Amino acid sequence: MSGEKCFEVLEKIFIPKKKQDIKDIKGYTIKYGNIVEGTEIVDEVLVSYFKAPKSYTTENMCEINSHGGNIVVKKILELCLKNGAELAEPGEFTKRAFLNGRIDLLQAESVIDVINAKSEREAKTGIKQLEGFLSREIAEIKKEIMDVMIGIEVAIDYPEYDVDDVTNKEISEMLEKVEDKLTKLEKSFDNGKIIKEGIKTAIIGKPNAGKSSLMNAILKEDRAIVTEYEGTTRDTIEEFVTINGIPLKLVDTAGIRDAKDEVEKIGIAKSKEMANSADLLIAIFDASKELDEEDLEILELAKNKKTIILLNKIDLNTKTDENDIRLRNASNSILKISALNKIGIENLYEEITKLFNLNEINLDNEIVITNIRHKNLISKAIENVKKTKETIKNKMPLDIVAIFIKDILEDLGSITGEIVTDDIIDEIFAKFCLGK
Ligand code: GDP
Repeated sequence: MSGEKCFEVLEKIFIPKKKQDIKDIKGYTIKYGNIVEGTEIVDEVLVSYFKAPKSYTTENMCEINSHGGNIVVKKILELCLKNGAELAEPGEFTKRAFLNGRIDLLQAESVIDVINAKSEREAKTGIKQLEGFLSREIAEIKKEIMDVMIGIEVAIDYPEYDVDDVTNKEISEMLEKVEDKLTKLEKSFDNGKIIKEGIKTAIIGKPNAGKSSLMNAILKEDRAIVTEYEGTTRDTIEEFVTINGIPLKLVDTAGIRDAKDEVEKIGIAKSKEMANSADLLIAIFDASKELDEEDLEILELAKNKKTIILLNKIDLNTKTDENDIRLRNASNSILKISALNKIGIENLYEEITKLFNLNEINLDNEIVITNIRHKNLISKAIENVKKTKETIKNKMPLDIVAIFIKDILEDLGSITGEIVTDDIIDEIFAKFCLGK
């Protein structure tokens, strides 16, 4: 419970073993006792006390730790509500922390990211954001703009001083610097997206090329952390696999894995469909056979996408002409593997790492944008930097330049939540689960 009256509610339902006046209980202490309904004991619990402003929400807070299970927890919740508490909205605790100024909007949003993280990397970026790395970077950029802005305001307010020339140069230099920093942040979103969503990967190929065998080899890998969840389209299952830190989101794993029936095996049409939505194609061919029309169609699909070509079944006699593939599809790398015997799978991981520059994602020193809302605002800020540069080039009066600079500041302010509408706040916190 959080809020001014939370201790009042607590006192009606909690009897500590050692009675003490609430005034005398310090924050960050835990008391042992019983939750009661009238004279009846509901459960034996531990209650943590947090006193304003030193709590998650900055308000008075208490947390009741009961024995697990649905019945008791529900009962205690009911008792709290009956005695004056109100049920929290999704994300309300974090929302209060934001509205009370303990964290900014960026940090609040990172709480969701940490909770929902599917991989260690993703959790790590969330935690860094929670610590305020991105907030500080934005604050620094804003300060650079503000420093110059003050000069501009002076020049506007006291036109008798001739400061125009100086400030114009200053403004230009500042804008260059700001644009550089923002562009770097904007670019980091590509990596951020990979960390957050995984590389959407489709394994395509003719029936019997070895798709399921490869899928199984990947999923059964010792170091693979697999999270299964429903795909974006109906009836598909996507699996999030992290191998050696490579986050892969395998598309339509159910379709590939469960199609035991030869007739139902995933063929060209389905491959095309899957290829459309993927960031990475793994095109697999049965090297023990010569390429046929269908194989060529699959090769055709691979042309416009990041693709790794696998010649599978190299444990058998090879009939596929590698040079033929190379001639038809020069830009993609070709690897020889045996999915069944798990030969060459390591090379596949290496190739993916290279293809997506995963080694360059250095989470310890780099700020990575993972949230599309932030990315859009940064892009908007860059647009406004460009517009401001235009106004200077066109020798617009300073008060006009100032208006454009204020737009940049506004974009940045929306990221951290200084300037943000209630609608946006509601939308952001609606993504939380209850009780966070
Ligand atoms: P899919 O239809 O593309 O999913 O192909 P499967 O993975 O079901 O493989 C088709 C057949 O080829 C199965 O009988 C597999 O055991 C076999 N197979 C897959 N990979 C290899 C391999 O590397 N070597 C050999 N010899 N057989 C393989």
